[in-house]
Amino acid sequence: MDDTIVALATPLGRSGIGVIRLSGPSSLGIASRLTGKQDFSPPPRKATLERLVDPADGQVVDTALITYFKTPNSFTGEDVVEIACHGSPVVLRQVVDMCLRFDARLAEPGEFTLRALANGRMNLAQAEAVRDLIDSQTKASARQSARQLEGALSSELQPIKDDLLNIIIVLESALEFVEDDLPEVQTAGLVKALEELADRVGDLASTFKAGRLIREGLRVALVGRPNVGKSSLFNRLIGQERAIVTDIAGTTRDQIHERYTIGDIPISLIDTAGLRDTDDTVEKIGVERSRRTMVDSDIVIVLLDGSESLTDEDLRLVDEASRFDHVIAANKSDIATTRPDIPGSHVIHISAKTGEGIDELEKAVVSPYTSSEPNAGFLVSDARHHDLLSRCEGEIRGSLALLKGRSSEEIVLLGLHNSLRYLGQITGETTTEDMLTRIFSTFCIGK
Ligand code: GDP
Repeated sequence: MDDTIVALATPLGRSGIGVIRLSGPSSLGIASRLTGKQDFSPPPRKATLERLVDPADGQVVDTALITYFKTPNSFTGEDVVEIACHGSPVVLRQVVDMCLRFDARLAEPGEFTLRALANGRMNLAQAEAVRDLIDSQTKASARQSARQLEGALSSELQPIKDDLLNIIIVLESALEFVEDDLPEVQTAGLVKALEELADRVGDLASTFKAGRLIREGLRVALVGRPNVGKSSLFNRLIGQERAIVTDIAGTTRDQIHERYTIGDIPISLIDTAGLRDTDDTVEKIGVERSRRTMVDSDIVIVLLDGSESLTDEDLRLVDEASRFDHVIAANKSDIATTRPDIPGSHVIHISAKTGEGIDELEKAVVSPYTSSEPNAGFLVSDARHHDLLSRCEGEIRGSLALLKGRSSEEIVLLGLHNSLRYLGQITGETTTEDMLTRIFSTFCIGK
C-alpha cells in the first residue's frame, strides 16, 4: 500500500459539488501538481480554495476546495486529500485523469475502507457498517449501521471474548500444571460460566430476526384462491396499479414483488398465483411457486372472499398457512352480507376496494416483528455476523457437553478456541485474505 489511489467519492452526475478523494503517500504531491504550485502546503483539516490547472495546456479546469488530512488522522490513516470540485461529470473526469497522469492509481471497490481497516482506523465490523450505512434504504437501518460504525458490535463482543479467554486460561493451565483432572468444584464453576456465555452469544445471535428485518425488510406472501382480490389488495397496499386486476380466475400466474414500507419497516410483498389444485400445467407451476413462496416468506397473508361462503380450498389454504406466521383476511367487506368466521382464528375484515380494515391488516402483519423494541439493544443485522455467532454458540455448547462428560481438557479446549476464532472473524482479527476479498467485493469504487 505504498501507492496512492484516487476515485470519485460522490456519484457521477450533475450536482453542486463533486468530491474526488486521494489516499496514499503521494496525495499531497499530486494535489500540488494539480494546483500548479511548487510550494503547496495547506494546513491539515482546513479547506483552501485553489485553481486546478491542466499542465498539458495551462488551462484552468476548475476552482476547487482542497482539504488535506495528514496521516494518521484521516479516514484511511494515510495522507488523504479531498478535492471538492463543481459537480460536472466533465470536470470531475478531467481531474481524475490528471491525478492518474500524476501517478495515482484508480481505487478498487472498497479500497479506501480496506486501507482504513489495514491501518487500524476501524475493525472489520465497522468497515462493513460503512458499506451498510451507505446502502441503507430506511432510517432504521441507517441508524443501526451508524451504531455499528461507532463500535457497538465490538463492544458487545469484547466482554464475551474476555470471559471466554479467562475460561480458556483456566483450562490451559490445568492442562499444564495439574497432574490429575480438575477438581469437581472447579469443573462445576466452568460449566456454569460456559452455560452463561453460550446463552449470551445465543441471545445476541437471536437479535438477527429483528436486525435482518430492519435491514432487508419483511417478506410478505399474499395467497388465496383466484378472484378473492389478491391483486386488488396488492395494489391497495403498495398504493399503485402494479398487479393486473381481472375477473377471470387464475390470471395472476407469476409472482410479482414490490417493495414498500409500513412505518419504518421495509416490506417486500409477493403476490402469487392462487393456491389451488389444477391440471393446467402453467397454472400448476404458479401453484407450486406459491407454496415455495410461503416457505420463503416471513409472514403469509391468507386472503378469503368474504362475500362468498368459504370453500374447502380456503380451509385447506388456512391449514397450510397455519404452519407459518400468518394473518387471515376476508376481502370484499363492502359487499359481504355476513362476516365469515374460522374457528380458532382471528379474521380481519377488509375491503381492497374501499380501504376498510387495511390499517388493521398492516398492523397485524408487522406486530410480531415490532414487539422487540429496535432501540432497546444492539441488533445483529448482517448474515455473516449471525452465522459466526451461531457457530460460536454451537462450539461453546459442544465443549460444554464434553466438559460435563468429563472429557479431557484438550478436547474441551478445541471447541473453545474455535469459538474465540469465530468471534475474532466478526471484527476481523482472525480473518483470512480470502474472506476480506469476498467482503470488500460488495463495496463500490470510491468507498
Ligand atoms: P385475484 O385473482 O385474487 O388477484 O383477484 P383480483 O384482485 O383480480 O379481483 C377479482 C375481482 O374482485 C375483481 O373484479 C375485483 O374488482 C374484485 N374485488 C377485489 N377486491 C374487492 C373488494 O374489496 N370489494 C369488491 N366489491 N370487489 C373486489
